[in-house]
Amino acid sequence: MVKEVGFIGLGTMGGPMANNLLAAGHSLTVRDLDDDAVTAAVASGASRADSSRGAAAAADVVICMLPSSPHVVAAAYGDDGFISGLRPGATVIDMSTIDPDTTRRVAEDVQAAGGRMLYAPVSGSSAGAIDGTLTIMVGGEAGVFESHLDLFNVLGANVIHCGPVGMGETVKLANQLSAGVSMVGVAEGFAFGLSKGVDPKVLFEVMSKSSGNCWALETRCPVPGVLADSPASNGFAAGFMTDLMHKDLGLAMTAASNDKLPLHMAALARERYAAASRAGYGHMDFSAVAKLLEE
Ligand code: NAD
Repeated sequence: MVKEVGFIGLGTMGGPMANNLLAAGHSLTVRDLDDDAVTAAVASGASRADSSRGAAAAADVVICMLPSSPHVVAAAYGDDGFISGLRPGATVIDMSTIDPDTTRRVAEDVQAAGGRMLYAPVSGSSAGAIDGTLTIMVGGEAGVFESHLDLFNVLGANVIHCGPVGMGETVKLANQLSAGVSMVGVAEGFAFGLSKGVDPKVLFEVMSKSSGNCWALETRCPVPGVLADSPASNGFAAGFMTDLMHKDLGLAMTAASNDKLPLHMAALARERYAAASRAGYGHMDFSAVAKLLEE
């Protein structure tokens, strides 16, 4: 069934996700602060909204793909916010990675406005957004989840209901914690090997077939020229930005500290991403954290 979707946030992830929904035949009304991003989506068949409220007013499903909590708050509230434009019974699906308190607050206010809320962060990087192969971790009522599986299946290859609103985010942050720490480990493995004169291609060949193998290594070997399609071989173009990894580790640490749960490695890794951002790599792929070790 064709759905009327309001799509807010057409960046690295949201742009290709919106294109995939259009290609699947859904009707989209799009909103972004960046007019060029809106113009590109309109060229692919979307309608333009001049506010988040306008995107919601034209839709039964509102999808957000925004950078962080303040951006979601800015899009949700006020006279131009999507909550004020919600149709009765409409569903808001927030696919941004944001903090759990903001998620709960937005969910309560969407419900108070007569809407339904799913929180569905994703993993899989820009390539997964383009190919429609994201892993999508959905929190919210099972019935609401099931009635939107048609949209999720366009965007992702692995769509998993994780429990009530908030659980999708917990799963997502656990994944980010693991990916963020392992990227720093891969970077140090290569810094050590290269400091001893090992050929990086040899190191990759061995590590990728050994116990050091992981997603960070397979997709983001941080030495240019080892993998043709890695960010390192392409000027560290994101991909997934260093600043976003720094944000996600902070979200995980804040959530953990509420329970007095120590996350030592996440804390150390986060400091590395902070240093990488300070060094000018914040908008590069997070594998650029390895450049600190070159210096
Ligand atoms: P991005 O910065 O590339 O895109 C965000 C877009 O939102 C921009 O086009 C910006 O103009 C727009 N925007 C910001 N505030 C707005 C507002 N108030 N109203 C309308 N538009 C607004 O970010 P991204 O890489 O697409 O990431 C989006 C989310 O997805 C983040 O929470 C990120 O953590 C998560 N994520 C990203 C990746 C990745 O590989 N990039 C992977 C998984 C999850």
